[in-house]
Amino acid sequence: MPRLPAQPGTVYLVGAGPGDPELLTQRAARLIREADVLVYDNLVSPDILALTRTDAEHIYAGKERGNHALPQDDLNLLLVNLARQSKRVVRLKGGDPYTFGRGGEEVETLFAHQVAFEVVPGITAAAGVAAYAGIPLTHRDYAQACVFVTGHLKDGTMNLDWDGLARPRQTVIIYMGLHGLPYLCEQMMKHGLPPDWPAAIVQQGTTPNHRVVTGTLSTLPQLAEQAQLKAPTLIMIGEVVKLHSKLAWFKPDQ
Ligand code: SAH
Repeated sequence: MPRLPAQPGTVYLVGAGPGDPELLTQRAARLIREADVLVYDNLVSPDILALTRTDAEHIYAGKERGNHALPQDDLNLLLVNLARQSKRVVRLKGGDPYTFGRGGEEVETLFAHQVAFEVVPGITAAAGVAAYAGIPLTHRDYAQACVFVTGHLKDGTMNLDWDGLARPRQTVIIYMGLHGLPYLCEQMMKHGLPPDWPAAIVQQGTTPNHRVVTGTLSTLPQLAEQAQLKAPTLIMIGEVVKLHSKLAWFKPDQ
């Protein structure tokens, strides 16, 4: 099937990847260049926004922790209205639109309003960070499964299936978990993993501010605090973290 250029009146939900602009897909790069209007989140890097046409309109949709520039319902309707003005709309999201990105909700609204849409996958933070930090998500010697969860704190806790997460031979990736890191590590130990179980936290993976802090379930919270990490950060728990010292190749701070 030939890939069409961006069409007027269509919303493209595009994954911008984890940060490094070279990790955009070709489809994403093309649609970003062709868009009349871009609606973007705070996770989308300025280098990627710089790829747009000089006359393209940029609308910031927020999504920083506790600071949503636009409530989700307004945002969903904004996309509908822009499409109805026959614009070529790119809704740009960090990572992959269907991984903790509320992309499903936005597309449901477009569908309900009969607005044409396309979804372009992006490299999710877990895949980008794994590659650049040298922490494979699975490995025959260490992990036969990998789970992605959100560590967003609600009323000071996380409502997660701890028995399912605190298992050997599995890698657990936690998005949005920085503020809940002490609680998270505590629960993983309470549910059976040893205190010396490997764990890492990666700041702004794949970008010039990429930083990796490794430790164990018992040491990581303090190490992370000392390092004064800045969002976004990804937490990785499992024996694959041991490979970091051997396999990391991306070291912008050195
Ligand atoms: N749709 C995005 C995730 C959005 S949720 C994706 O697929 O990646 C936002 C969370 O993603 C952040 O709190 C952080 O945990 C993670 N994240 C996104 N980009 C990251 C990066 N470059 N480095 C580390 N974590 C990142």
